[in-house]
Amino acid sequence: MKTVRYILLALGCTLILLVQGCTITSHAVGKPAPGKASSSAEMERLIDQPGPIELETINSADWSVPLSGLLNLKSPAAIQAGLKDRDEPIQVYAHVLKHPQRGNYLVDTGVSKKLLDDPGKEGVSWLVRKVMHTEKLHLNKSTAEILQGMNGKLSGVIFTHLHLDHISGIPDIPNDVPLYIGATESTETYKLNVFVQGSNNQLFENKQPLQEWPFLPDPQNKFAGIVDIFEDSSVFAISVPGHTPGSVAYLVRTTHGPVLLTGDTSHTRWGWEHTVEPGDYTQDNAHNLESLQRLKNLVANHPQIEVRLGHQR
Ligand SMILES: [Zn+2]
Repeated sequence: MKTVRYILLALGCTLILLVQGCTITSHAVGKPAPGKASSSAEMERLIDQPGPIELETINSADWSVPLSGLLNLKSPAAIQAGLKDRDEPIQVYAHVLKHPQRGNYLVDTGVSKKLLDDPGKEGVSWLVRKVMHTEKLHLNKSTAEILQGMNGKLSGVIFTHLHLDHISGIPDIPNDVPLYIGATESTETYKLNVFVQGSNNQLFENKQPLQEWPFLPDPQNKFAGIVDIFEDSSVFAISVPGHTPGSVAYLVRTTHGPVLLTGDTSHTRWGWEHTVEPGDYTQDNAHNLESLQRLKNLVANHPQIEVRLGHQR
């Protein structure tokens, strides 16, 4: 009788969570990230001048996932092009960002070999593995190998957002490394987070609290907000809500010129070129599309920007 009561209670709790939703992780949020609120005018004033950053994008793993997750196949452009659902090859990236004084940072994490060898031990649930089709992930360079190849230690991890394919290198990140995210990324609720929160919590266990970039409204209203993360105009965090509530793109002033890391505001080359936002993987399609249009406007005004998309080159 007692067991039946527990089962009913557990089912009831799951139902309530499904209706109300929950946060993507309940890992602690710490003090705000360093950096200062900036503006699109300030960013655009300097964008075309080379900066001090060295940036290397590493293909940590090859993967394939349904196109319907990566692209809104119901969009007029996708229908007109006759796109149908299929398995689409993609890559999982980590970007190594070197600042001459502040040291080495990762933008997103790539994939840890530990997570593929024993996902259960790293806390990734059977359900998440099943939905993600982790058996289709082929590792090229693990997060541990990326860190070994760095000259010096890791100063921080800068996230575009907290979906599992962007935090899948966390098991290899030392526990004392600061972790930076977009505003409300880990505090807004969403119904499908019920299935991933447990896995994400276990990945972040013993890691540093998450620190949000201190965004304020952009005075020119071209973006939701812009932060000059090193306070020297070398790297700008750009708030691009939609794919997730706290999604962030990064404009990096490298020694070779400006590079835009879009994160998953656009997963694919086709989506970027045709201004079509992601499909099932996106939380809020309308806001995702608006953020994508804003990033495309930035690139249209500064065509020398090299665009690096969420999952395709
Ligand atoms: Zn992704």
